[in-house]
Amino acid sequence: MIKAKAYAAQDKNSPLSAWEFERREPGPQDVVVDILYCGVCHSDLHQVRDEWGGSLYPMVPGHEIIGKVIRIGSSVTRFKPGDTAAVGVMVDSCRTCPSCQKKMEQYCEEGMTGTYNGYERDGKTLTQGGYASVIVTDERWVYHVSDKLDPAAAAPLLCAGITTYSPLRFAGVKKGTRVGVIGLGGLGHMGVKFAVSFGAEVTLISTSPSKQKDAERLGAHRFLLSTDNEAMQQHRAYFDVLLDCISANHDYDKYLSLLGLEGKMMVVGLPAEKPSLSPFTLISNRRTLTGSMIGGTAETQEMLDYCAEHNIVSDVEVIPVQQINTAYERMLKNDVRYRFVLDMKTL
Ligand code: NAP
Ligand code: ZN
Ligand code: ZN
Repeated sequence: MIKAKAYAAQDKNSPLSAWEFERREPGPQDVVVDILYCGVCHSDLHQVRDEWGGSLYPMVPGHEIIGKVIRIGSSVTRFKPGDTAAVGVMVDSCRTCPSCQKKMEQYCEEGMTGTYNGYERDGKTLTQGGYASVIVTDERWVYHVSDKLDPAAAAPLLCAGITTYSPLRFAGVKKGTRVGVIGLGGLGHMGVKFAVSFGAEVTLISTSPSKQKDAERLGAHRFLLSTDNEAMQQHRAYFDVLLDCISANHDYDKYLSLLGLEGKMMVVGLPAEKPSLSPFTLISNRRTLTGSMIGGTAETQEMLDYCAEHNIVSDVEVIPVQQINTAYERMLKNDVRYRFVLDMKTL
């Protein structure tokens, strides 16, 4: 077994604290990654505090993992020691269902195995994430990251990046598409960057007037303050595509009304409460409301290669792991520009 140092939640009410555990010895297809950085996703906070229900403890959160390969199993073909490598939100799936065959394992018919807060396929062993010194993962769920990219700033691509890249691609966003990105947090700021790079006309829709300047710096062409009712009225039926990246409970109708004819709202934000929705808002303009979960292994590698080619990374604040509990509080106060990343060498 491989000893791992980590920060873990022991239950839903306690702050994260130092913890040690063991990773499996690498099997023939496993890659052992020495973790350098791990991004802090709002999903970590939702799960640590059991906001979605069913959380499993002890829990080492973290699914935006980047580091160096230090060992490989005998059958590994895609990696060698010394390679920069990344692990994202999933580490296994059934591998045989139609979704898995298409490398869209996030939609595995039997359910994917989450990097943490899940069970390995044996149904018994808890998976543990990236707020740790090391991870052992089947190479199918390990990605190459170009050394052209700053590794700390590239870490959030593994969740915030792919979760926004995938729905924007699925919606066919291209030159001239009127895209509204809702909520400028970790996901939202990546959504703005991708939509801009795909050539769209991008509007940031935000509750925070203070983020207007940042939205412009990130490349957004327009800013819409969602608390300004008059401005919202003026944008009724304006957009082709909306990307909802909001982490807290909110009114979906209010944003759906902004969609024009056959517009699509792609939900990626995962507030705990079930929303209410008026069918009248949906039938007007034949609007579509749909959701999207991260991205499969093929699309994740495609996104990472796209980022290397277009020099796209996250705007990050790198912090020592000991500051994780403060980082969660700041995230809840909307005080992150725009992703915390843990320096795992501070463990
Ligand atoms: P984050 O960095 O905390 O950003 C959330 C943003 O939501 C805030 O910056 C804020 O933007 C907006 N917001 C917060 N409270 C709001 C409210 N009451 N009303 C309207 N807007 C509000 O979070 P994140 O890491 O980007 O994650 C966002 C959500 O996506 C989380 O729920 C997370 O679990 C989920 N997620 C889903 C997937 C997936 O596969 N679908 C993957 C990863 C994460 P403004 O200040 O601009 O309003
Ligand atoms: Zn995430
Ligand atoms: Zn499957």
